[in-house]
Amino acid sequence: MSYPICVTCGVQYGAAVSACPVCEDARQYVPVGGQEWTSLEALRASHANEIRDDHGLVGIGTTPKFGIGQRALLVEDVLWDCVTLLDDDTAAQVGSLRAIAISHPHYYSSMVEWARAFDCPVLLHEADRQWVMRPDAAIEYWSGDTYDLGRGMTLIRCGGHFAGGTVLHRGTDLLTGDIVQVIPDREWVAFMYSFPNFIPLPGSSVQAVGAALEPFAFERIHGAWWGAVIEADGSNIVRRSVERYLAALDGNLM
Ligand SMILES: [Zn+2]
Repeated sequence: MSYPICVTCGVQYGAAVSACPVCEDARQYVPVGGQEWTSLEALRASHANEIRDDHGLVGIGTTPKFGIGQRALLVEDVLWDCVTLLDDDTAAQVGSLRAIAISHPHYYSSMVEWARAFDCPVLLHEADRQWVMRPDAAIEYWSGDTYDLGRGMTLIRCGGHFAGGTVLHRGTDLLTGDIVQVIPDREWVAFMYSFPNFIPLPGSSVQAVGAALEPFAFERIHGAWWGAVIEADGSNIVRRSVERYLAALDGNLM
């Protein structure tokens, strides 16, 4: 059976549906040309994954760009975030995984395909359970503020962009997807409810992201895209970016 995949967000569905709730949500969009579907089989014929170093971690991204265009990262044998395309070549290069952890629903992609191929769980925060479009026994929901992944890795629930918005901390690295967005100026980060629709977050949510990260020290911030990496001073950059954001919401533009 061929599971439908939304062309715009790259999320795979467990059954045929007429619309994509992920894209109809205010944080995403249905393109002016209308809803389109594809399948993993079709994607394997038209796309390939690029697997290479990205600032010290192994990145996995699809070419040509598919869906939202994020690249996943390998942290030892944990896959951070996910991409829709999984093919034999990718599976062979990745080797083995003990877990998949995903920042938020826009990157749920074909997570169940990955979990089955690598016989490992997908760890999602329970606050985003409603956005799982292909339920499966491999999906494990965690709750609370943090989850110990072992070997010095911690999942931190920040909320913000999504209620269950999660980042991964290990040593001096913070992997954020776009829960903490690395922006072109690598001296700052940003936070949004919707990136494509330019809807900001309320101050209380941005403060909550900052508070969730306050107990953790980190230098590098690995964002959602190839090269979207801040190399140093990450903790301070998040701190001052929260302050700048709150000031802007109050009308104080620097
Ligand atoms: Zn979609």
